[in-house]
Amino acid sequence: MRFEFATATRIVFGEGTAVTLPELARGFGARPLVVTGASTARAAWLVAALSAETFAVPGEPTVELVRKGARLVNEAGCDVVVSLGGGSAIDAGKAIAAIATNGGEPLDFLEVVGKGHAITAAPLPLIAVPTTAGTGSEVTRNAVLSSPEHGAKASLRSALMLPRAALVDPELTYELPKGVTAATGLDALTQLIEPYVSSRANPLADAVCVEGMRRAAGALRRVCHDGADKDARRDMALASLFSGLALANAGLGVVHGFAAPLGGSWKAPHGALCAALLPHGMAANVAALRERAPQHPALERYAAIARMLTGQNDASAEDGIEWIRALCTELGVPALRTWGIGETDLPGVVEKAAGASSMQANPILLTYCELLAVVSAAL
Ligand SMILES: [Zn+2]
Repeated sequence: MRFEFATATRIVFGEGTAVTLPELARGFGARPLVVTGASTARAAWLVAALSAETFAVPGEPTVELVRKGARLVNEAGCDVVVSLGGGSAIDAGKAIAAIATNGGEPLDFLEVVGKGHAITAAPLPLIAVPTTAGTGSEVTRNAVLSSPEHGAKASLRSALMLPRAALVDPELTYELPKGVTAATGLDALTQLIEPYVSSRANPLADAVCVEGMRRAAGALRRVCHDGADKDARRDMALASLFSGLALANAGLGVVHGFAAPLGGSWKAPHGALCAALLPHGMAANVAALRERAPQHPALERYAAIARMLTGQNDASAEDGIEWIRALCTELGVPALRTWGIGETDLPGVVEKAAGASSMQANPILLTYCELLAVVSAAL
């Protein structure tokens, strides 16, 4: 056996820890840039405390937005980036911190659709502070950017891009509306399931996945029905953090393979896409494994997932898929066509998904027909 599990991120977790953020930031630099979501209002206290520059990220980050952010950093002489927001603000901050020191053109470094050059200069130090419980981006080494001209999403990726610190305060998620709570929570759950069955699964990531799934299985339904449930909010913040550690060290699979091209071409939140695809991606993998690789260890792992999710000792892989399907229905996960995706778009989507970086860690190579069936079922 051989594996690697890397994180260079200092993780600070706990209710009320956000108040320590100004002190934490001053430890890394004197001129911070605070990157926020669409509204900068929630970060006003932090900006005032640090006399910081601000940069708002209105949606999922694009190549052009990162160019603008990196220009601002260099013009203002910023020496540390603090991202306070959801996955979009954190990914934007990571990309801006990297491009500011490596050169002005994100496409030179972008995987798949860009030139894929290596990030060689250390990015500015980044402190990531998630305000959703979903992406785990605070502990991953990539930033997902969309390139509208390519109709795709792809990553800037380097071990150098790991945030220097992740401050995870569950209190920052207390006000999240139900729809965002559900979509981001289902993304976290997907990011615990896919690394657990991936071709790069390893014992350390397994431990993180199991603990994360255990917490998410109990908390996701509760937190969607009662956003004031503090224990459930804490469990989802942990599940999200663990999902980031897991995906950064064990990879993802078919669901995220599809989320990349879909999110690149249609304006749909990443979590909502993953949630719509999750039961169908699991079903396709289990069916393909049973048919072509009945001895594959991922099959027993799907059964273990089912036992964790349902709490039943005799649950089968299919029971786990049913549990997810029922959860998606109960939480009102919208079908893909809600976002304007149509039947005639699917062959092109399948082609792009097959080449996506996340797809490479799927436990079994799915055929064109199997991939088309996954995305058709989610339509
Ligand atoms: Zn995800």
